Amino acid sequence: MRGSMLNKIKDAFKYLIREELEIQHRLMNIILTVGTVALFVCIIFDFIVGTGTRTFWIIILLIVSFLMSLYLANIKNKPNAAGILLGVVTNFILMPLLFFSEGGKESGMPMWLMLAALFVWLIVRGWPCILIYIGDIILYSSLIMIEYYNPGLVIPMANRRIEYIDYCFAITAIVLILGIIFKFQSHIYEQKRKQLEEKEKELTELNASLEAANEAKSDFLARMSHEIRTPINAVIGMDEMILRESSDRNILDYANNIESASHTLLSLINDILDFSKIESGLMKVLPDEYEIYSLLHDSYSMLKIRVRDKGLKLNLEYNVDLPSRLFGDELRIRQVITNLLTNAVKYTDEGSITFRVDFRGRDDGRIDLIISVKDTGRGISEQGLESIFDSFQRADEKKNRNIEGTGLGLAITKQLVDLMEGEIYVDSTLGEGSEFTVVIPQEVRSDEPLGSLSDRLNDKKSTGENYRESFRAPDARILVVDDVAVNHKVVKLLLKKTEIQIDTADSGPECLDKYYGSHYDLILLDHMMPDMDGIEVLNRMMESEKYKEEKTPVIALTANAVLGAEKEYLNAGFDDYLTKPVQGADLENLILKYLPPELVRSGSEM
Ligand code: ADP
Repeated sequence: MRGSMLNKIKDAFKYLIREELEIQHRLMNIILTVGTVALFVCIIFDFIVGTGTRTFWIIILLIVSFLMSLYLANIKNKPNAAGILLGVVTNFILMPLLFFSEGGKESGMPMWLMLAALFVWLIVRGWPCILIYIGDIILYSSLIMIEYYNPGLVIPMANRRIEYIDYCFAITAIVLILGIIFKFQSHIYEQKRKQLEEKEKELTELNASLEAANEAKSDFLARMSHEIRTPINAVIGMDEMILRESSDRNILDYANNIESASHTLLSLINDILDFSKIESGLMKVLPDEYEIYSLLHDSYSMLKIRVRDKGLKLNLEYNVDLPSRLFGDELRIRQVITNLLTNAVKYTDEGSITFRVDFRGRDDGRIDLIISVKDTGRGISEQGLESIFDSFQRADEKKNRNIEGTGLGLAITKQLVDLMEGEIYVDSTLGEGSEFTVVIPQEVRSDEPLGSLSDRLNDKKSTGENYRESFRAPDARILVVDDVAVNHKVVKLLLKKTEIQIDTADSGPECLDKYYGSHYDLILLDHMMPDMDGIEVLNRMMESEKYKEEKTPVIALTANAVLGAEKEYLNAGFDDYLTKPVQGADLENLILKYLPPELVRSGSEM
């Protein structure tokens, strides 16, 4: 029976300090509960020392005010109102009454007054707390002074001994009450600290799992891009053969459409791959020396064809004093330029596109390369400009519905420019056109001025003209190793006019068999193959005496376009690297670079 009573009290107390409550509310509950118990003890004490019925009733009123505050705070759920009630009724009415009936300053009362004023800080919030507190100080000081001037108002204790006992009781009770409050405070603090520690641990774990998920996503995208590249390789390769060999206008038209669509698809895959690389922090700036001329020339040539196809006018403006040789990540700068130029052509229906390249000096000895692309196209609305560099955001989507896009190009461009410590701006008016400007710091490697390009830019024959093989090598023998048969066919067809003898292998072991069985002038070796991959095949070959003697060039032919892949292949011992989908001209150039010169004849030589 006693056990269940104790349990009920325990449960009630647990309820009053349950965790859902705010700390201040829990503290108030503790103070009120402990206070009520203390007041009951006071009644017993007063009964023993015989202070009379006045005090008894005041203490009863105090208990009632405590219980009402508990009720307000917990049943009515109004802890603030409870705090104010307690502060006003107890501190302003009951405590002064108690002061006069309990021996005034000579008893334990001054200590109880102090405790009452202190509690205001703990249980009342905001400005009522300040007001009640100030009221307490004024009132309690006044009580002491009233006693000084009118000692008759205070009913003294029965005798000095009782005064001393009352004093001792006040010390014991107050120290106990404060002790319990401090203990409770530090208990809560410790509890919160532990909870924070656990949360932090959970967050770290969550972070790790998010990172793993992000990595898995990037990995998936890289894989997908790899898988998609393989069939596109076949599409582009076969299509190139149609373009080379057909003379039927209709068929050529179909093949041109296939070419354009497959390149769009390819650039989409590249964008997604780039985006995932940037997101996972894998995109790095790889600076090297480069010629500003080739950057300008290639960008201009690419733009020239597209602009011409769309019936637009192209202006090229450049500073003839541009330093001719710079140091920076040419590949990424080209990518930025390509994205801006592609957009300019895409979003301009008539008028012109102006491609401008300029520079200015910087304090740190480098230069700012300033590239701007201006068009007279559709322009971008103010609202569209706000999120223009956000990923997957397309501005003015309704208006541009007829134009294909993912909203990734500018996001990637911005990220690339940021990576190169540069800046990108856009200035656009809806219906009038846009100007994108990129400023990228670059080191100067040769400050010899670029000079005029007018002769140089037009002397190169533009691409898109009829194919003509760059060389012939009928006595050369190469081995193409790929587990996908259509890739053999693509390489064979692309190299058909060079008359090179082409042998094929479907797997690593077959490659090794053929390699040991005869002589090849060059090997094109796929990386991702089941059972034995390209790197393992190469390692086995490299261990052989034959390889040490013949030093056959081995070129990685792969759909792995992930950043850093090139380095990985060169480190593994490959002589070079070619990404699928293979372009006819790239393939020819690479083979030409590695074939023994005595086997090579020029394309027109009979
Ligand atoms: P998208 O694949 O949609 O072209 P981008 O990230 O390259 O994606 O561009 C984001 C949006 O910015 C485009 O959808 C287009 O609305 C707008 N935009 C970009 N360049 C131009 C431009 N030169 N003229 C007008 N609008 C442009």
